Amino acid sequence: MKKLFLVANWKSNKISLEAREWLEEYQRSKIKDQRSKEKEVIVCPPFTLLSMMKSFIDDKNLPIKLGGQNVSPFDAGAYTGEVHAKQVKEFADYVIIGHSERRNNFGETDDILIKKVKKAMEVGLMPIFCIQNETTPVPEQVTLVAYEPPTAIGTGNPDTPENAERVAKIVKEKNPQIVYILYGGSVTQDNIRGFVEMENINGVLVGGASLDPLKFTALIKNA
Ligand code: PEP
Repeated sequence: MKKLFLVANWKSNKISLEAREWLEEYQRSKIKDQRSKEKEVIVCPPFTLLSMMKSFIDDKNLPIKLGGQNVSPFDAGAYTGEVHAKQVKEFADYVIIGHSERRNNFGETDDILIKKVKKAMEVGLMPIFCIQNETTPVPEQVTLVAYEPPTAIGTGNPDTPENAERVAKIVKEKNPQIVYILYGGSVTQDNIRGFVEMENINGVLVGGASLDPLKFTALIKNA
C-alpha cells in the first residue's frame, strides 16, 4: 500500500472553541481505529490554534500531525507580525509554503519562497511546497509538493485525476529529488479516490472540505 498524506488547510478559519469541537468530533469518528502507517493526517490551522491543538492531540493520543500555513523567511527578531520557523516547530512538523493565496494576495515571490523553505528545513519542519502547474519552480531541497491549479482552489471545479497525474509525472521528471506529490483543489469525499488511485499522487491538500470534521473524516475513510 502506498503512503498517503491527507492534509487539511483551514486557512483563516476557526477560533479555539470551534477547533476543540472539530477535534472532539474527529475523536468520535473512529479514525483512531484506522491508525495506519500509510495514511498520514496533517491539520494546518491558523497559528493561534497550534498550541491548544497540540495539547489536545497529545493528551488524547490522536493520530494527527500539525502543520503551519506559512513561515517567516527570517529568524527571530524585529519582524513585526512574522512567525519564525522555530516558533512553528515548537508545535508542528509540517508547513505549507507557497500556497496560491499567499503568492497572489501577499506578493510571495519564488525568491522569498526559497528563503522560507531554507528556514523551515533548518529546524526540521517539512515543507509542503505548493505549485500552480508544471512550470512553477521547486526549490532544490523540497521533497513534498502539492500541485494546486488556482482554477480548482475553492471553486468546486477540480482538475481531473488524469491531468493531475500528467502534471505530477512531469514535475517529478524535472525535479528528481521530489518523493511525494499531492493534489489540491476542490477535493471532496466523493472525488478523492480518483486522485489517490493515480500512481504519482500520494495524497491530497484539502481546504473547504476539511473544515467540517464529518466531511473530512469521510474523505479520509474514502482515500
Ligand atoms: C486549498 O486550500 O489549498 C484548497 C485546495 O482549497 P479547496 O479544497 O477548498 O479547493
